[in-house]
Order: sequence, then structure tokens, then C-alpha cells
Amino acid sequence: MTTLAGPTAATLPPFVSYQNQQLMVEGVPLAALAHEHGTPLFVYSRAAMLSALAAYQRGLAGREHLICYAMKANSSLAILQALVRAGCGLDIVSGGELERALAVGIDPSRVIFSGVGKTRAEMRQALQVGIGCFNVESRAELDVLDEVARDMGLRAPVSVRVNPNVDAQTHPYISTGLKGNKFGIAHEDVLSTYTHAAACKGLRVVGIDCHIGSQITQTGPYVDAMDRVLDLVERIEAAGVHIEHIDFGGGLGIDYQGDTPPEADVLWQALLQRMDARGFGDRKICIEPGRSLVGNAGVCLTEVLYLKPGEQKNFLIVDAAMNDLPRPAMYQAFHRIVPVVPRNNATASTWDVVGPVCESGDWIGRDRELAVHPGDVLAVLSAGAYCMSMASNYNTRGRAAEVLVDGTQAHLIRARESLADQTRLERLL
Ligand SMILES: *Cc1c(COP(=O)(O)O)cnc(C)c1O
Repeated sequence: MTTLAGPTAATLPPFVSYQNQQLMVEGVPLAALAHEHGTPLFVYSRAAMLSALAAYQRGLAGREHLICYAMKANSSLAILQALVRAGCGLDIVSGGELERALAVGIDPSRVIFSGVGKTRAEMRQALQVGIGCFNVESRAELDVLDEVARDMGLRAPVSVRVNPNVDAQTHPYISTGLKGNKFGIAHEDVLSTYTHAAACKGLRVVGIDCHIGSQITQTGPYVDAMDRVLDLVERIEAAGVHIEHIDFGGGLGIDYQGDTPPEADVLWQALLQRMDARGFGDRKICIEPGRSLVGNAGVCLTEVLYLKPGEQKNFLIVDAAMNDLPRPAMYQAFHRIVPVVPRNNATASTWDVVGPVCESGDWIGRDRELAVHPGDVLAVLSAGAYCMSMASNYNTRGRAAEVLVDGTQAHLIRARESLADQTRLERLL
């Protein structure tokens, strides 16, 4: 038993704070939202997203650029809408995400279509609406896209995703720029892929792209990748194929557990210097940030159901689970967990915070010092990215509701999923 030290301002993301013993997102107390909407509940700060976006916009100011939010991080319509209104393009990986993009009224020329496994139907759908660019990941995909576009009497704008073979120094499951993984075209095959693409009647080469991983907290791997990509651009253009834009993907990390990634504008200062030094100062830049725009803008509220102290471990059973917050189970990811209304002067114990799902992998945090009673509400921090968008109905649990906070106002942007929602497509024998 230790005395509760209490979370300090330094451990809370921007726009999340304690005021009068109440955890707030912007000007809204979270206890009130949990009371009104129930738990588990995702709460997002609009200001946090826009301020994360503004750092990129500052970093790229004065350059021709397009910031495409990678919506797989969190594809809720109101979030897309907020970012698109603030000047974002979108990066999509499926026909479903294209429908979401269109639903928020984006100009399709500001949408980039990424992903290793686009179907012909998805290609047609994207060509029909006039997508900005297909980021193609294999020679086979290039040939299918060429065929689909020619059938439609169109030329598909393409970029080839290159694998720069740099180590992003992140978790193996979210590292994508090394030779051993399924993404991108190997360095040595890039030139022939471009000369081939340039000769295809259904394709129009517009760019080159890479994406080396996710939750990257250092500048070094980006600069290395930039150098590799610029080497390739030089060789491709020497072969007579012009590259209009260079797309550096996403991947910038956030502070989950004392991580210290560079600020987006500081990172881009370094990268633009490199581009200038190599004579690419006037090249259009595209980027595809996901996590760094929304990750620290969201929290997940969960109620403590039961305390289950044990001989080896104490378990704190909460009403959010791996179906709501899959990152710990998938990547052993860390999320800070803090009380919404701290119990001052209470003694804390060490708990494993776990959900009700019937899997040992269903944990949200391990060995956390918390002073709690059943009925207390906890906030799982940094839950804006890759949580709700990865949520499932495992154990027939309805997906959580979502609220977007804007100053002192809270908007319900997604209702809690009901059992009827879940069984709507099912039929009895
Ligand atoms: C996932 C992904 C992104 C976004 O990654 P973050 O780490 O969330 O910034 C960008 N581009 C591609 C191709 C991706 O697969």
C-alpha cells in the first residue's frame, strides 16, 4: 500500500486537465459525460486535434503541400468533418473509407488511396469520383489498376509506395519500412516499376510515397527515409519520369508513456532543410499523419465494476475491454489510466486493470497505482487513435458511444451500439 501520488499536469495530454478535483476535456467535466451517456465512452477534444494539425500546417507553411489525415486511426464522421473543415485532405485504405470521405463532403482530389489490397471494385469506385492519387504497393496492383482505368477510358493518378528499408525503431507490428514486411516496393525494383507505369496507357504517374512505420519518436529514421526516397526520385527523373509530389506517409508518434517525439513543425524543419539542401525545395509534399493528429485528443471513460484482490495480483475489473481498447492486447501498448474524480488522501494499491471479456489478453493496464472504489470512473488516456476504429463486437458487446468536446460544449457524435444494431444482419434458421 502506498499513498496516492496523483496524476500531475505533466502526465496529462494537452486539453485534458484537473480543475477543482474534476478531470476535464477542454471545459467539460468527464464525470458529467459518463453520467449522461454511460460508459465505456470515448471523449475527444476538437481543439486538441486542430492544434495537432496546426503544428503540421506551420511546419509546411509556404510550401505546396497536402496533409491527408489517415482516417484508419479514427474514422468517425464528425472527426473527419472537423479535420476536413480545418483544411485536411484524407488518406484512405478501403472503399468504405472512401464512402466516409465523401460523406463529409471532401473534394475527392484531396483523397489518397493507400493499402496493399485494393479490389477492382474499389479502384473503379475511386476512379469514378476522381480520387487524387492511388498509392500502389505492387507491380501486380499497378497492372490491374491500369486495366481498370483503361476499361473506364480514364488514366489513374498513381504513386508507387517504396520501401526505403529503414528501421523506424518502433514495435515490429507497426514497423512497415523494412525489407521483411509486406508493404511497398523494394528499393531495387522501384526504377523499373516507374518506367513500366509511365508506359501504361491507363496510368498517370504523379508521385512517390513511403510510410516507414507508426509511433516513431525520433527524427533520424525520417531523415534516412527522406534521403532514400530523394535518391530514388533522382534516378526516376533521370530516366525521364517526372515526380510531381513526394508523400512521406505518417507515423509520427505521440506521448503515451513519457515518449518524446519531435513536434510536427520541428520534424518538418529538419526534413525541409534536407529537401532544400538536395535541390527539392519546390517539390509538392504530401503527408499522411494519423495517430499524431487524434491519438492524444481522446480518452476512454470506463467504470470500475469490481475489485478482486488476490495473492499474486490484484485485479480491477472495469466495463471497457479489449473490444473497445484493443491496443494493449494487440501490441502490449501502454495507456495511462487516471481517476476522473481523484480520491485524495486515500491509499492506493497496485492493480491490473482488466475488462470483462473472456480472454487473458483482455487487459488495459498492468501494475497501476490507483485508489478506487466500485462505481468510480477512470479515464484511459491517449485513446483517440486506433481504439474506436479497431473496436469490435467480441462477446456481443456493443461498441461505445463517442462525444466530441468543443470548449464547454459536448456533442454526441456516435450513439452507443444496441443489441438490435448488432444482430440486424443475422437470421434464425
Ligand atoms: C497507417 C498509415 C498511416 C498513418 O499512420 P500513423 O502512424 O497513424 O500516423 C499513413 N499512411 C499509411 C500508408 C498507413 O498505412
